[in-house]
Amino acid sequence: NTRIVLASRPVGEPQSSDFRVETVPVPVPGDGELLLETLYLSLDPYMRGRMSDAESYADPVPLDAVMVGGTVCRVVDSRSPGFAAGDVVLSFSGWQTHSLADARHVRKLDPAAAPVQTALGVLGMPGFTAYAGLLQIGKPKAGETVVVAAATGPVGSAVGQIAKIKGARAVGIAGGPDKVAYLRELGFDEAIDHRAADFAEQLTAACPSGVDVYFENVGGKVWDAVLPLLNTYARVPVCGLVSQYNATAAPEGPDRSSALMGRILTKSLTVRGFIQAEFVRDQYTHFIADMSEWIRDGRVRYREDIVDGLANAPSAFVGLLAGKNFGKLLVKVAE
Ligand code: NDP
Repeated sequence: NTRIVLASRPVGEPQSSDFRVETVPVPVPGDGELLLETLYLSLDPYMRGRMSDAESYADPVPLDAVMVGGTVCRVVDSRSPGFAAGDVVLSFSGWQTHSLADARHVRKLDPAAAPVQTALGVLGMPGFTAYAGLLQIGKPKAGETVVVAAATGPVGSAVGQIAKIKGARAVGIAGGPDKVAYLRELGFDEAIDHRAADFAEQLTAACPSGVDVYFENVGGKVWDAVLPLLNTYARVPVCGLVSQYNATAAPEGPDRSSALMGRILTKSLTVRGFIQAEFVRDQYTHFIADMSEWIRDGRVRYREDIVDGLANAPSAFVGLLAGKNFGKLLVKVAE
């Protein structure tokens, strides 16, 4: 079993020295357990938070422990009546080639229904985050303007496409000309490069009727540009702040939080943070039904960025926080 453990807590951008590759014996399953071989490992921005011991909604990964992460795995050996060798399952086995899982904590996947790795992307946690955050908090109405950044990623691309399905105008923000061109292909009404010198002006021009829903994925200068455009009663599902995850200090300049509170008051804004898990019980079944249908109909399309080999997970993960991925970032660990 090859595995990648957290060697040290990063300061700023994670370094390769923050990770360590180890080889340990393949474990033996006990009663009710499965021995799994990882096929795909999902890399997600939240992992940066787990590397840090700052207070958050989930405990940090302990030093010298395996990095956490969602996985699609093949059952190698089953000690549970519900599973057989060869079954493919969704698990949370982290950055390693083999693992044990409690059979109650994995979900069997049907390879005939959808490519199995979509259970980590468009038909998994990121797709669900978009679906629940947009529909439960953003509540876009026909004709409204929805803005989302990190818009080519698994969360943002689903947000924009679901907004279109609900009859809203979708304005996508991404880094670089290739990503902007892809947003237009996906049917976003406007696509803007946040690296452009006149980004804020372009965003203003793209939102002539203001912004009704801003699905917050990134924070920082994108949020600064969106805030003045928010309409009365605008909704802001706060999903992520990826531009800040490697930050080591508060932004420079005066504290603007009271101006922000003033704006929330005078514009009657709803700014609501969420962790997708809170919606699972009520919304997951609806999500799977709706999303599967939208994918079948071609109304939701998705893109994957697949890196080969577990050893490349650390560099791919560092790249994710810098926008080097183009689509849902996955590591292919085994055939
Ligand atoms: P992505 O695949 O979209 O990857 C992150 C992207 O963020 C990068 O590709 C990059 O895209 C963009 N980015 C990075 N730095 C900046 C910056 N300084 N300014 C603007 N954009 C930047 O990730 P996901 O779709 O998996 O996740 C998107 C967001 O959703 C993240 O914030 C994540 O933490 C959050 N999330 C929250 C969940 C919840 O339950 N609340 C659950 C899942 C995800 P580009 O090149 O276009 O700039």
